[in-house]
Formats: sequence, structure tokens, C-alpha cells
Amino acid sequence: MTASSAHSPLAESLAAVRTRLAEALNDAGRPATEARLLAVSKTKPAALVREAWHLGQREFGENYVQEALEKQAALADLDGIVWHFIGPLQSNKTRDIAEHFAWVHSVDREKIARRLNDQRPEGLPPLEICLQVNISDEATKSGASLAELPALAEAVLSMPRLRLRGLMAIPAPAEDREAQRKPFARLREALEALRERFPEAPLDTLSMGMTGDLEAAVREGATLVRVGTAIFGEREPPR
Ligand SMILES: *Cc1c(COP(=O)(O)O)cnc(C)c1O
Repeated sequence: MTASSAHSPLAESLAAVRTRLAEALNDAGRPATEARLLAVSKTKPAALVREAWHLGQREFGENYVQEALEKQAALADLDGIVWHFIGPLQSNKTRDIAEHFAWVHSVDREKIARRLNDQRPEGLPPLEICLQVNISDEATKSGASLAELPALAEAVLSMPRLRLRGLMAIPAPAEDREAQRKPFARLREALEALRERFPEAPLDTLSMGMTGDLEAAVREGATLVRVGTAIFGEREPPR
């Protein structure tokens, strides 16, 4: 337990992010319980995840399947840990994801959703799903378009081993708060439209906001902010 001393760098950075989230909720006039923190641990060692768990963090986000499986095996003794897959989805990785994660944030096409549904083990609860939306309309970014969303949502809602919880987006970076808010507002409106169209669906999740823009995201209704750098420090360049 020495690693989780209250004065470790991780303890300080995690506390600072929790304060940022609390203040953002307060500034938005929203209850303190309305958004939770997903700690994005990609490229970071299992020992740091373990330390964050000792500091009370329970939900972790990973982008790379193989790396995540290794960490999960090393951390299998941690009660209540919840793993979210937030990276790009490839068909040949869906089985590992369906078997080893509780949430997937990056579903953007029916074919991938179908595979996750078919591969989700019967002994586990349904996989919690967010649809990734290409909210900045950049040709290079992954995510379904707003136009594709109703049909994709309808398809996922028909799959019994998946539970459609909401939407996720990674907007293009913007410097000032006002510019950051625009794409998050579009994502919120898209979720509101889906709720009207599918009133029975458990659509309660807006996965948006990262280290650089969590305040803007919370202002627009984020319920799950995905924060890596501000918690675990800078990452090495992508592999
Ligand atoms: C890496 C990553 C994050 C965390 O980004 P930071 O800027 O380090 O907070 C959040 N969401 C997704 C999908 C990511 O890939």
C-alpha cells in the first residue's frame, strides 16, 4: 500500500481531476453525481491502475486489446474494477472485447455490433454500448454520421446481448471553451433525439470530454468523462 500514499504524484493528479469534475458540474448547475470519471490507462502500467484503484477509482478505459488483456490478468484480484473499451474496433478483436470488457464506447457500425452481440458470453450481463459519432464531420475520424445514427441505434436495440446506453464522441481539438462546446452540444441533441425516438431504451450516457475539454463537455451534459493525461501523465508516442 505504500504506492498509494496520499502524497504520491498519482494521488495528487487524481484528486485534481476529481476537483475539476466537481467544479465543472457545480458551474453547470448539475448535481455532483451526474458525471463520473473514466480513467484512461492506455499505455500505462498495471501498477498505476492498481494504485488508482486503491485511491477509489473503479472505471478504466483501454484502447488496445492485447495490452488491456495483459493488464486485466495482472489486476484480476481488484474487486469492482470495470473495464471500458474505447479504442477503434476491428472485426478480428471483437471476441476478446466481448469476453473481457463491461462497456464498449466505439461501436460505429452494425457489423461490429452484431459480432459483439453474438460473441458476448451468456454467463455475463449484456455488454454496455455507446455509439461513437463523428461529430466534427472530419473524413478521417471514425464514428457513425448523425444521419446513420437512428438506424444503427435501432439495430443495436434489437440485439439481446447488447444494452444501448448512449453516445460517445472525440471532437476535433479546439482552443477556447465556447468552440469546444459546439460539438458536445450536437452530441447531446443527438442523444435527446434518440431518446424521443426510442423512449424505452436505457439511453443515459454521454461519453464526452477528455483532459483538454472536460469542462466544456460537462457543461453540455457529459455523464462520463474519459481522462488519461491529467491523471496518469503524458503518454509515449503511439505504438
Ligand atoms: C486516449 C483517449 C482519451 C484520454 O485522452 P487524454 O487527452 O489523455 O485525457 C479519451 N478518450 C479516448 C477515446 C482516447 O483514445
